[in-house]
Amino acid sequence: MPPYSIAGVSALLLSLGLVATPAVGLSTPIRRSTTECVSRCRVIPGDAKWPGPEAWNSLNGTVGGRLIQTVPVAHVCHDPSYSAEECQYVADNWLSAYVMTPRPGEFLSSWFQNQTCVPHTDRSTACDLGNYASYSLNVSGVDDVKAGLDFAQKNNVRLVIKNSGHDFYGKSTGKGALALWTRNLNHKEIIHDYSAAYYQGPALKIGAGVNGGEAGSFAAANGYRMVGGSCPTVGPAGGYTQGGGHSFLTGLYGFGADNVLEWEVVTALGDHLIATPEQNSDLYWALSGGGGGTYGVVVSMTVRVFPDGQVAMASLTFSVDSVGGVETYWQTVERMITELRPMVDDHGMVGQFLVTNDTTDLYALIAPDVTSSELSTIVSPVLSSMAVDGITPQQLGFRLYESHSYYELYARTILPHAAGGVLTPVTGGRFVTGENVAANATSLIHAMRATVEEGRFYVAAVALNSQGQGRLADPIAENAMQEDFKHAYLNLIIPAAFDWYAPWEEAHQLQDEFMDVLLPLYEEATPGAGAYLNEANWAQATAQDYHGDNYERLREVKAKYDPNNVFYGLTGVGSEAWAPDAEGRLCRTGITA
Ligand SMILES: Cc1cc2nc3c(=O)[nH]c(=O)nc-3n(C[C@H](O)[C@H](O)[C@H](O)COP(=O)(O)OP(=O)(O)OC[C@H]3O[C@@H](n4cnc5c(N)ncnc54)[C@H](O)[C@@H]3O)c2cc1C
Repeated sequence: MPPYSIAGVSALLLSLGLVATPAVGLSTPIRRSTTECVSRCRVIPGDAKWPGPEAWNSLNGTVGGRLIQTVPVAHVCHDPSYSAEECQYVADNWLSAYVMTPRPGEFLSSWFQNQTCVPHTDRSTACDLGNYASYSLNVSGVDDVKAGLDFAQKNNVRLVIKNSGHDFYGKSTGKGALALWTRNLNHKEIIHDYSAAYYQGPALKIGAGVNGGEAGSFAAANGYRMVGGSCPTVGPAGGYTQGGGHSFLTGLYGFGADNVLEWEVVTALGDHLIATPEQNSDLYWALSGGGGGTYGVVVSMTVRVFPDGQVAMASLTFSVDSVGGVETYWQTVERMITELRPMVDDHGMVGQFLVTNDTTDLYALIAPDVTSSELSTIVSPVLSSMAVDGITPQQLGFRLYESHSYYELYARTILPHAAGGVLTPVTGGRFVTGENVAANATSLIHAMRATVEEGRFYVAAVALNSQGQGRLADPIAENAMQEDFKHAYLNLIIPAAFDWYAPWEEAHQLQDEFMDVLLPLYEEATPGAGAYLNEANWAQATAQDYHGDNYERLREVKAKYDPNNVFYGLTGVGSEAWAPDAEGRLCRTGITA
């Protein structure tokens, strides 16, 4: 970061949303809505019923001055706030989650940012809030949550819950919304001897804002491992675990949702509840896999943790050049996919790899509880099978690592590359079952080749088996984990390669290409396999598709705890009750849970 004067620093902090702009004196010109449905719609700035400065100031007073008016981080790239130096800093760090995710209001889905205030458009283009929430409430506890819920409902303001802002579908933001920003709920506590009928043993309690890196390192410092995501800035107690949560440890311990002991929640009606397998068990069930931002505001989460210990990791990288040609390259990719399956089925390993049109990088195959020399023996059949035309392990860039601690290995090898920043505008997702690979690997490889061959998309994959021979711990209790994910071997994520300075129409073309050309290829190769509700394209599936047989029960839980449909998120359970109008207001469709 370049040096700044004191005035410059405070201007930058202000611009980055690290300090609050006072809510006093806000004024937005009143205009009459052009929509006829305004009475059944949430209000947005400019509507006659948008709360005035006094109302916002009153809320600000109630919450001890922790109301923050949104100023998008990239406003310094646009007149009248333009600053070449500060804009360059924002542009340079656009892909750094460490810069974007700790800020109120910011969110990573560039599709839903819709270029209304980004560093890549001309400075003369106005910085518009677009889908940014208008205000964030920097939540410090239950009373703040209640105050925010109360204000939003009394004033007919859209309410969203925002933790890290990683959501692929922009569910943690919304035009004209008041965001309950949970990042500073950062309590962490090890409970060495949690005791209940459903579980006895070590547990970790975290506030809703603790991120995966913080939770994992805290658990490790206390001698434990937790099921957490590969990205350190994703929020375990937010959309990650509420949406299921896959991990490098899923082969041993299942999904994040399988390990929840307690949810501490404030409901839309303002009730402060604890949900466990025994208490408010319907809410516990729904929150554990039924999708984030849907049933209530999670204040804290308590999860089962496991003794830390030995872990090994293998990686390999190969390219068209290193294996000697395009056809050999794709044969090698196919063999890798086929041969990794027994690793995840029988040994509880989880792998992640990236496939482009000329390079494949299996950057992590994590094998808990074995040494690197044991792992070398276990994976030797994989290397033998991949030796198409005599390719050697050296040509495959094969490497081994090990550690006495899962988090230590993760932090050393994966974390530096996994922080994640603003997401490419178009991403799709698809599960692949082991049976799909056994029956139709050729179709899968055809789909992958078609995806990457022009360089417009690439394929990222997680290889895992949550129900394999390596599984050591059953779910704590019945939960709403996506059934399709339990049967998946691969979770494919299919992001577009996007030039941030390209015309925005190209994002729409990529969206059409994914939906109309690529997705059908995967559907043909993997009939009925589904997609992960947290890592797909916003347009490719509905809540009913994601939740299948659980859907009606989830709707019932939502109707019980959120009878007025305060919580809305695109693709979330009950989302059919709302749709945006032409100006972005959220309006009731008349369809209710
Ligand atoms: C770079 C990157 C890496 C990822 N890696 C993984 C991975 O390894 N494994 C995996 O399973 N997923 C992964 N994901 C997907 C991730 O789990 C989802 O994007 C998830 O929704 C993020 O949750 P969040 O709370 O951090 O984000 P947010 O965008 O803040 O919230 C996501 C959703 O959860 C809701 N929510 C947030 N906090 C609360 C709360 N306190 N109470 C109620 N609802 C809340 C929001 O309203 C929103 O609907 C990754 C995503 C990205 C962008």
